[in-house]
Amino acid sequence: MHKLEVVNLRVAVGGREILKGVNLSVSSGEVVVVMGPNGSGKSTLFQTIAGNPKYEVLDGDILLDGQSIKELAPEERFAKGIFVGFQSPVAVPEVRFAFLLQAMANVRMGKKLTDPNPQVLAQAQKIAAELGLRPDVFNRGVGAGFSGGEFKRAEVLQALLLKPAFVILDEPDSGLDIDGIAAVGNAITKLASSGSGVLLSTHYARVLRFIKPTRVYVMVDGRVALEGDETVIKRIEELGYQGYFKELQNFG
Ligand code: ADP
Ligand code: MG
Ligand code: MG
Repeated sequence: MHKLEVVNLRVAVGGREILKGVNLSVSSGEVVVVMGPNGSGKSTLFQTIAGNPKYEVLDGDILLDGQSIKELAPEERFAKGIFVGFQSPVAVPEVRFAFLLQAMANVRMGKKLTDPNPQVLAQAQKIAAELGLRPDVFNRGVGAGFSGGEFKRAEVLQALLLKPAFVILDEPDSGLDIDGIAAVGNAITKLASSGSGVLLSTHYARVLRFIKPTRVYVMVDGRVALEGDETVIKRIEELGYQGYFKELQNFG
């Protein structure tokens, strides 16, 4: 059982404070959803957990099983089992996808293989088929000409292959067709049932057809404004953020 905790986290980007004291947690087997209007700080939170050096931690901490990870380099966090996918993933076209997967598997398993291991590749191909990714994806450069849907599926493929302790996905359901949402949603459920803790952001209630969130946080202006269950997602879908906050005020 593992626990990832964000404690009173304050983060600045380019000298401007974006996260103003965020508290949340995710444990093994949980699916935790972060919502919030555009610009509320969801991606900033995920980038900070990943260890992107552009995001300056002003105060607070990120704890993995009670131990601070905020001074660790991104690759050290990854080696500890924290996998973070990004809203706008970067392309590394000069590296073939199969080699990237092997490099990641090496870090996870403490190996130093330079060529893709046939077993790893076979497993990756099986997962690709489940996700509706074309088999030639492994011979392409990472992100080279990937469609939005391929980017998202490739990210989830990495998570399914590596089975990290924590899988953190920024809008994994954005820009996908309905089959893509089903594939990614089912993959998230599978990851959680196999023991990963999943933290994801989304704007849409439709993902609830495929995932069952343990907990939902709503961020507003760099803070967690409220915590609830999946009914929060449904009400936000119906009323919008402004309407939902108004309703809470009226009944609060
Ligand atoms: P969300 O993901 O909830 O839409 P973001 O974390 O992307 O929100 O953005 C929160 C705020 O931080 C926004 O005002 C955005 O302009 C700012 N911000 C985020 N990342 C950067 C960056 N790399 N450089 C400058 N400003 C940024
Ligand atoms: Mg956004
Ligand atoms: Mg974002």
